[in-house]
Amino acid sequence: MAKVLCVLYADPVDGQPKTYARDDLPKIDHYPGGQTLPTPKAIDFQPGALLGSVSGELGLRSFLEKAGHELVVTSDKEGPNSVFEKELVDAEVVISQPFWPAYLTAERIAKAKKLKLALTAGIGSDHVDLDAAIKHKVTVAEVTYCNSISVAEHVVMMILGLVRNYLPSHEWVRKGGWNIADCVARAYDLEAMHVGTVAAGRIGLAVLRRLKPFDVHLHYTDRHRLPAEVEKELNLTFHPTAADMAPHCDVVTINAPLHPETEGLFNDALLGKMKRGAYLVNTARAKICDRDAIVRALESGQLAGYAGDVWFPQPAPADHPWRTMPHQGMTPHISGTTLSAQARYAAGTREILEDYFAGKPIRDEYLIVDSGKLAGTGAHSYSVKK
Ligand code: NDP
Repeated sequence: MAKVLCVLYADPVDGQPKTYARDDLPKIDHYPGGQTLPTPKAIDFQPGALLGSVSGELGLRSFLEKAGHELVVTSDKEGPNSVFEKELVDAEVVISQPFWPAYLTAERIAKAKKLKLALTAGIGSDHVDLDAAIKHKVTVAEVTYCNSISVAEHVVMMILGLVRNYLPSHEWVRKGGWNIADCVARAYDLEAMHVGTVAAGRIGLAVLRRLKPFDVHLHYTDRHRLPAEVEKELNLTFHPTAADMAPHCDVVTINAPLHPETEGLFNDALLGKMKRGAYLVNTARAKICDRDAIVRALESGQLAGYAGDVWFPQPAPADHPWRTMPHQGMTPHISGTTLSAQARYAAGTREILEDYFAGKPIRDEYLIVDSGKLAGTGAHSYSVKK
C-alpha cells in the first residue's frame, strides 16, 4: 500500500460548483503532431467538472482506495507545520500542480525517504529540485501536452488584450464611463507588428500558428531549429538567441521552461535591447523575468505592457509588485487549468499512476527524470546545474 499525497488549489470560495456554464467538452482526437491524449483504463470523473481543486481530487480517490492505497489531498503546503510537510515524510507519490506548486526542494526530498514518484498534474516540473530528484532516484513525470493549447490560447488573448488596451477600457465601462479617448490613447492594432516567441515547443509553436492569420511578422528563438517546412509555412524569422531577437519585436512571448539557462533571462540588459514600447507576455515561469526589472521597464515606458499568469512564489503575496505595476494584465496561474485542461491532466495523472502501480514503464513523453537522470521529454527540454 502506498501513500499518495496530492497538493491541489483550494475550492472556490462558495464551494464546489453544483452546475457548470456548459454541459460538455468538445472532443479532441489527438494533439497537434499526433501524440495521443491520455489513455487511462478508466476514469471516475465527469469531464468538464472542477477536478483541480481539493474537493475535485483529480477524480482519483475511488481508483486509489480500491487498489488499497491511501490518498491524502491538501492545499496546505507552506512551512514546517503544513499538512504537506507532515505527510511528505512517508509518502511514496507526490502529485502537485504548477498552479499551486508544492515546492519539492532538495531538503524536502532528502526528508521524504519513501518518495519514488513526483507527478505534475500539468506541465512544468521546475517546482521539483531536479538535481535532488536525480540524486535520490525519484522519478519525475508530467502530463505532457495536456494544457499546451490552453496556454497558447491564453497567450494570444493576453497579446490582444495588451495591444488593444482591453482591460483598462473594460474598467471604464464598469465605472459607468464612456471615456473613448482614455481607452484608445494606448490602443493599437496587432496587424503588421513583429511578434517573437522565446522557444517554439508545443506552446510556442501553437502561439505562432494561432497568430499567423493576424498578418503579423513572426519570429522565434529556440535551442533547436524548427523543420524548414514549418519555417516556410509560417514565414518565420529565426534568431539564435533571445538577445538577437528582442530588438526586432513589438511583442515578445516567453514559452521556454525555467531551468538554469533561462532563469533571469529578461533582466534590465535584455529589456533594454527591446524596442521602446514593446509588449512582453510570460505564461512560462516568473523567474525567467527579473521581477523588479519588469516593474522598472513598465514605469519608464520601455515596456508598453506586461501580462502573464506565472508568479514567484505562488500564491503571490498581497504586496507582490506585479499586482499593482502599471500597464499589466496579470491573472493568477490559470491558463493551463481550464475545465477543458483539467479533464486531460486528470486522465493523464491516472494513466501515469496506473502504469506506475502496475510496474509498467511510464510513457516516454511524460518522463522528466527517471533512474537518476533526465529522461524522455526532460532530456530534451530541461537542463540541470553543471
Ligand atoms: P516544450 O518542451 O514543448 O517546449 C519548450 C521549448 O523550450 C523547447 O522547444 C525547448 O527547446 C525550448 N527551450 C528550452 N530552453 C531554451 C532556451 N534556453 N532558449 C530557447 N528555447 C529553449 O514545452 P511546452 O511548450 O509544453 O511548455 C513550455 C513551458 O511553458 C513549460 O516548461 C512550463 O514552464 C510552461 N507552462 C506554463 C503553463 C501555465 O499554465 N502557465 C502550463 C504549461 C506549461 P528544444 O526542445 O528545442 O531544446
